[in-house]
Amino acid sequence: LPQEFVQAQPILANLEQAGYEAYFVGGSVRDTLLGAPIHDVDIASSAFPEEVKVLFNRTVDTGIQHGTVMVLDHGEGYEITTFRTESTYTDFRRPDSVTFVRSLSEDLKRRDFTINALAMRHDGEVVDLFDGLSDMKNGIIRAVGDAETRFTEDALRMMRALRFSAQLGFRIADDTRQALRDLAPNLTKIAVERIRVEFEKMLMGFNAAESLKLALDDDVINYLPGEPLKIWDNIIQHLATHQPADAFAVWSLVLVETDLTLSQINRFLRNWKLSRETIVTVMTVVPLARQIDKVSTFDLYQSLPYKKTLFELLTMLGVSNGTIEQIKHIIDMLPITNSSELAIQGGDLIREGVMTPGPKLGQCLKKIEYAVVNGDLKNTRESLIQYAKEQVNDDN
Ligand code: ATP
Ligand code: MG
Repeated sequence: LPQEFVQAQPILANLEQAGYEAYFVGGSVRDTLLGAPIHDVDIASSAFPEEVKVLFNRTVDTGIQHGTVMVLDHGEGYEITTFRTESTYTDFRRPDSVTFVRSLSEDLKRRDFTINALAMRHDGEVVDLFDGLSDMKNGIIRAVGDAETRFTEDALRMMRALRFSAQLGFRIADDTRQALRDLAPNLTKIAVERIRVEFEKMLMGFNAAESLKLALDDDVINYLPGEPLKIWDNIIQHLATHQPADAFAVWSLVLVETDLTLSQINRFLRNWKLSRETIVTVMTVVPLARQIDKVSTFDLYQSLPYKKTLFELLTMLGVSNGTIEQIKHIIDMLPITNSSELAIQGGDLIREGVMTPGPKLGQCLKKIEYAVVNGDLKNTRESLIQYAKEQVNDDN
């Protein structure tokens, strides 16, 4: 058993001693059996939320309406979710209600794929009701039960099938894939944020190229947020050799080779409901990467906060090492990395009686910054004050 499970054993023991059932479930069981590192330990139990709270000293109601209580123990948080069924899906997305049940099998039955529907007892014994172990061995993503029904209940599961195939390098079982083909249009009914999470994880997976190809062949791509792009084949090619490490790199890669203008890119990213930070990052690095041969020193200076994404993007695009080294060299040679490193600030110019507060001051500081970055002006107090005085004289 992995260290994370060993640490959580007393929690299961506590529940069991009180007469409840308790199991490790979900991604942590799957990843343990695959020998992969696990993120969060999820526990499922026959105990109802109120019953869980009685048994542990420190709990947080993280999702009590879905039956989830977080137990804090030795600095770790464990989500304990009551066995539940999800009933009557009316809109292809979320169940209308969850019902707490006392049976593990009911809980496992509602899970998306056989490899995600395994449970593990505190001693490591696996409960495998849907042949998840054999699918795991054979590298197959298969819906639990009838794939059409399961994807009709919750269309997001289609994105999750693609995401897990990208992360694990598993193939999607034939019936599950057929259902995906048939029901892809239902994806338009799913909240953008939920799709985005799965889509980003998919493109970061080591097998992303294959999964994206499948999404393209099965016409899934057309039902995603944002306007249709024509360059998915290019993206697939890049993904075959490099995986983006984070969401900034994902979206930069998706957009860099399109013919979308910056304002169209902005709209595309807004349609995907991306954060302000992601939008700014993409809108900074994409224009630079598109014209990397013509990039100026000042452009690079301004893009310093986004430099990690810029270099990642250049690498994914296969830009030559020579060019990348040149860019790195320019960055290494920059006299300053941001305006606070200038030898004077606005206050100094006012105190020295060179300028008065106002828009002119801001403009002058911008000019100073530009000249210093370009190496046309030495970043010392005297030379900057001298330069500011000349600016004022020029203006008069
Ligand atoms: P990750 O390692 O990325 O967290 P995970 O399998 O833990 O993978 P989660 O989204 O954290 O994925 O979900 C935890 C578990 O809940 C899944 O393993 C699965 O059993 C179940 N699950 C999650 N989303 C769905 C869904 N849309 N439909 C059915 N079951 C789901
Ligand atoms: Mg998880």
